Amino acid sequence: MISLKEALKLSQEELENLKQELNKKAKKEKKLGAYIEQFLDKDLSTSGNGVPVAIKDNISVKGWELTSASKILQNYIAPYDATAISNLRSNGFAPFGRCNMDEFAMGNSTANSFYGKTLNPLNHERVPGGSSGGSAAAVASGLALASLGSDTGGSVRQPAAFCGCVGFKPSYGRISRYGLASYSSSLDQIGVLAQNVEDAAILYDAIAGYDPMDSTSINLDFIKTAPHLNAHKKLKITVIENYVNEADVEVKNALLKTIAMLKTHGHEIIYQNLLDFKFDIAAYYIIAMAEASTNLSRYDGVRYGRRCENILNLKDMYIRTRSEGFGEEVKRRILLGTFVLSSGYYDAYYIKAQKARAFIKAKYEELLKDCDLIFMPVTPTTAFKFDTQKSPMQGYLEDAYTISVNLTGLGAISVPVAKDKDGLNISAQLICKAYDEQTLLDGALSLEQIIKN
Ligand code: GLN
Repeated sequence: MISLKEALKLSQEELENLKQELNKKAKKEKKLGAYIEQFLDKDLSTSGNGVPVAIKDNISVKGWELTSASKILQNYIAPYDATAISNLRSNGFAPFGRCNMDEFAMGNSTANSFYGKTLNPLNHERVPGGSSGGSAAAVASGLALASLGSDTGGSVRQPAAFCGCVGFKPSYGRISRYGLASYSSSLDQIGVLAQNVEDAAILYDAIAGYDPMDSTSINLDFIKTAPHLNAHKKLKITVIENYVNEADVEVKNALLKTIAMLKTHGHEIIYQNLLDFKFDIAAYYIIAMAEASTNLSRYDGVRYGRRCENILNLKDMYIRTRSEGFGEEVKRRILLGTFVLSSGYYDAYYIKAQKARAFIKAKYEELLKDCDLIFMPVTPTTAFKFDTQKSPMQGYLEDAYTISVNLTGLGAISVPVAKDKDGLNISAQLICKAYDEQTLLDGALSLEQIIKN
């Protein structure tokens, strides 16, 4: 598949042909389930001029349906473009195709979608990861040049690692959340999935920057990263040794080999341990569920999407609209989130989780005082089979290495480094200081080139 960089040089006519070709291919690969609407002959006419970029179904594109893969938002039409989308359009890109996801971005398998699951293009019995599983599968299978996803606790980096593409979540505040359907507002961040690091930088440059429409957007000078990419900078990298050692043996061995190569190529490697990751998971799930329970209270049949039928009274409408519209995992999180925010339990759970979050943030800041980047696994295993997560809790534990980045607001990227014996992808994760995306992308490019050669 042609890179974004090359595609930006195509003529309008060539781009139209490219879209037709992607459309045809997507229809042929319908079984993969990367897209929610099979492309959407409709999208062909409404996409606008520019290089096609696939969009996760929780980012608003004016005039398109936006459902967050939930029944409750069926037939909801986005009335405006998200800032990320309007920025895309003004930089030579065009939204093209809506990607499948876990309902309201809750999950790590894309099996929690009202529209059915997405398959991993490397092995159809395996999950593509999630929640941006459609965005990752589309890029990894050549059904999209690049895509946008959202990352609340790993949802860009983990599916990229499971499918075998680059997944980049910038620091919190770098990309406007205006027009992103909220899951957990203090953790959510739009991110990019691409075929390679340079394309990820190009797409990030197109959509990042301060936005007065998002009160959490960071008002810092934004300097484009792609023109300054430098794979030859020698960096000081802290490896989280116990995370690498605890990963599955094939993941561990691939990462150890990668670390050795980074060293040979002149990067300085130091080792540290992080022993409290159980707190990360507990703090993350308490905060995410609490925020989700309030964010999702707006879906009550009054303003957005679907309303139940044969209404008896207002209360009946609220209850049945929500009971019929939300899937099981979403209901579980609304219930738990409401519980941890209730007056008797607020201090014991929510406040405690916020304290843990501050503690985790301080820990990462301390580590990053001594180095340029942190290196760790993205996931403990390669892509797992469908229906192997025995309980929700087992699923939550899979997120051990991705959620701290969201709790701390730092930037991170996952880069493919190897395949396991079954041909499944293994990626490494790099984490940077807040807003130091340039160093992150420089390190990722260096890693990518070292692996290629
Ligand atoms: N797997 C995590 C969750 O279910 C992260 C999801 C995400 O980043 N959107 O909350």
